[in-house]
Amino acid sequence: MNENLQIRTYKKTGHIEIICGSMFSGKTEELIRRIRRAEIAKQRVKVFKPKIDNRYSEFSIVSHNERSFPSEIVDNAEEILEKSFDAEVIGIDEAQFFDNNLVEVCQQIADSGKRVIVAGLDQDYKAMPFEPMPQLLAIAEYITKTLAVCVICGAPANRTQRVTENPDRVLVGGENHYEARCRLHHIVKES
Ligand code: ADP
Ligand code: MG
Repeated sequence: MNENLQIRTYKKTGHIEIICGSMFSGKTEELIRRIRRAEIAKQRVKVFKPKIDNRYSEFSIVSHNERSFPSEIVDNAEEILEKSFDAEVIGIDEAQFFDNNLVEVCQQIADSGKRVIVAGLDQDYKAMPFEPMPQLLAIAEYITKTLAVCVICGAPANRTQRVTENPDRVLVGGENHYEARCRLHHIVKES
């Protein structure tokens, strides 16, 4: 067997998977489903979320329909690199709350032969791309766009409507601040 073929046969390649969409579209639910299946496959899994997201639990990612999976809170993307050395499958929720360093961190983890599953909002409440998601989408091997249900008309909803007055890009909350809306019923107020 020649040397190149040996490398192809024995070295495992990693990859990046993205789950993105509006709020309530089932990103966290889908992330939990994939991580649970990896556990069934007896793979070592680890899930991280940013410090800012303490909505339901400090120790778990929790979906809006109350599914949960244990997770660790990290202050920044680099911490994920340090804390995931013993995991084979790494899940990251609420990726839009990390800075652009998350892109390099995901690349490094995937380059080391691991599976990285990243869930996050692809657009902010003004329907603008939410960094670092666009950059992650560009480098990912697999992309899943999840859609919610528009609370006005029941159509597939790709956008997040903020229903309270607050101009900040980041305002952590659930149904108290946000609704899923389709393109037609999403309203952007200039502020
Ligand atoms: P995300 O992580 O994308 O915000 P979650 O996985 O936490 O979404 O929650 C998805 C769940 O939210 C759905 O299975 C459903 O039970 C609930 N839900 C509440 N409002 C909506 C909506 N407008 N459209 C779809 N699902 C909704
Ligand atoms: Mg979520």
